[in-house]
Amino acid sequence: MASREKSNEFTEGYIKFNFKLNDGNPPSPEKLVKLNEWRQKMYGLGVIGAYPNGVGFGNVSVKDGKYFIISGTATGRLKELKPEHYVTVTDYSFERNFVECTGKIDPSSESMTHAALYEAGEAAAIHVHAMKPWEKLMGKVPTTRSDVPYGTPEMAYEMLRLLRETGVRKQHIIVMAGHEEGIIAFGRSLDDAGQAILKEVVPLLNDKKIIKSKKVD
Ligand SMILES: [Zn+2]
Repeated sequence: MASREKSNEFTEGYIKFNFKLNDGNPPSPEKLVKLNEWRQKMYGLGVIGAYPNGVGFGNVSVKDGKYFIISGTATGRLKELKPEHYVTVTDYSFERNFVECTGKIDPSSESMTHAALYEAGEAAAIHVHAMKPWEKLMGKVPTTRSDVPYGTPEMAYEMLRLLRETGVRKQHIIVMAGHEEGIIAFGRSLDDAGQAILKEVVPLLNDKKIIKSKKVD
């Protein structure tokens, strides 16, 4: 089986982690129905999308047996995702800052952060960007330390630390203070995660953000 190993600097800039992409089939369409449903909702709200410079943001994932399925890197700007835009993460190591996956696209640069949620026993995650809600929710909902950059093993450990604290799991949402605009919702299902975004994030969105993120490409 063909595979590729690399240490990648992603389009979002400062993040590096090592991954191995094994060439294989993308996840089957049935596994993606709910994932795409929520992803479309988020795209429509402008909390997954692309900045005016073309850099995409936001990603979604769901548990698949002992693995998890996550959207590929730089897919935020795409209006709709097809199976080939997703990869299955089959292994990861926080210690080695390493992710192994199968599919046709490089994994999201935030795969490590999602992995922390699965490590803690959650089953779905939706990562969005939204300035106003990020500012307003910081410190009010569980918040990662501001000196912890996203996509790193440190962020994974920080998420695990938060998830151990009482109450965090019930809120289904974490603000990433060290990742501007970054918010991640999670739960035992995609509906749990999606509902947390609708309840906590959407009421705080302003029109400006929605217009800004619409149809940048
Ligand atoms: Zn992000």
